[in-house]
Amino acid sequence: MNKPWSIRASTMSRNTQNLIRNIVEKIQVKPNPNKNFIPLSIGDPTAFGNLTPPEELLQAVRNSLDENESRCYGLTNGALVARQAVAEYYAHQGQVSADDVILCNGCAQALDLAITVLAEPGQNILVPRPGYMLYRTIAEGLGIVIKHYNLLPEKNWEVDLKNLEDQIDDKTAALIVLNPSNPCGSVYTKEHLRDILRISAKHRLPIIADEIYEKFVIFDNKFTSLASISKDVPILVCSGLTKGFLVPGWRMGWLVIHDRQDIFSKDIRDGLRNLTGRLLGPNKLIQMALSKTLTTVPQSFFDSVMSFIESQAKLAYKELSHAPGLRPILPQGAMYMMIEIKMSMFPVFRDELEFIERMYSEQSILCIPGQCFDFPNFMRIVLTVPEHILREACARIQQFCRDHIMQENNIN
Ligand SMILES: *Cc1c(COP(=O)(O)O)cnc(C)c1O
Repeated sequence: MNKPWSIRASTMSRNTQNLIRNIVEKIQVKPNPNKNFIPLSIGDPTAFGNLTPPEELLQAVRNSLDENESRCYGLTNGALVARQAVAEYYAHQGQVSADDVILCNGCAQALDLAITVLAEPGQNILVPRPGYMLYRTIAEGLGIVIKHYNLLPEKNWEVDLKNLEDQIDDKTAALIVLNPSNPCGSVYTKEHLRDILRISAKHRLPIIADEIYEKFVIFDNKFTSLASISKDVPILVCSGLTKGFLVPGWRMGWLVIHDRQDIFSKDIRDGLRNLTGRLLGPNKLIQMALSKTLTTVPQSFFDSVMSFIESQAKLAYKELSHAPGLRPILPQGAMYMMIEIKMSMFPVFRDELEFIERMYSEQSILCIPGQCFDFPNFMRIVLTVPEHILREACARIQQFCRDHIMQENNIN
């Protein structure tokens, strides 16, 4: 008798979960067939085709296609010319060299490298709540524990510093700071970032700075890179072309090591280099277009994208302020808006997920429930959809709220 087949997915794979997929893809209801579907859920600025990458980038990739070099394997941490280009691009944030740059398969891989090199299984990392769920997806598979620190909606989503400090224990390996924030749309002031650095320095905690939205600031807010103001705390900055240059599908990201006091030393650098050997480096076609792109795309490209997002933020904020039972929070950057759903005014719904499901089935609008960011009673919308679609979506959300808000004569 042969031994029967018995193949099981590994523990690591089973422990790797994506909250948005788990929650949103399990929604059973269908959109209203009489209304066109508007996904305000997709965090991809290119999804609707109204925002397109800079011509300089497209041309650089066309040129890259014809070069033999773009077809060859490169170094696992990225081609030298491309790493040099990234180092020069960030020169204004403090001296870094090509040796401090690792090119990655999107910002996601940069985060994966940073978390993997800094934390052992059983240790913990501190992540913002509400915050981007990928940190958890990466960490939990590796057996690294996630601990949340709170952000304060009434203070433009600043970090609750006391709460942050309370989370730190002797198993804490790193602090993740996300600025500008997905889903909050917040942009931190220099002073606030200094407060975070002070706590980090006091507890000797390295920082992983997710700055993928570095180009995304609106109104009079200013982006400050954490690395540009850190005198001692060592920082791994994770960013890339994805959001700012409007090419998420091209999977080009990077990790930049900022470590003025050489605290990471050779150990962490070697560790990072070892880890890049798992994927043999990112897409070389795009790597070979980096230098041209980072030196020639004009500021006016980013300004025009930001002025669009700013006007969308104003529009959605104004329209949704008129929706009974909702409280939108005006963003300062990124490309999202968080909206509080005053659940006590919608007693027909069990929680915000049910609110979102019903809105999907009646109005064909899909938003991301706060649960996906460990922050119930809120929902996130994206601001990058075309203006007429955003307008239509806001009108339908208003209608939905009017249809379901608790009527006064029902209060008893
Ligand atoms: C989109 C996003 C990423 C992932 O970026 P990729 O370059 O597509 O891997 C990382 N962090 C945040 C906060 C994001 O919103």
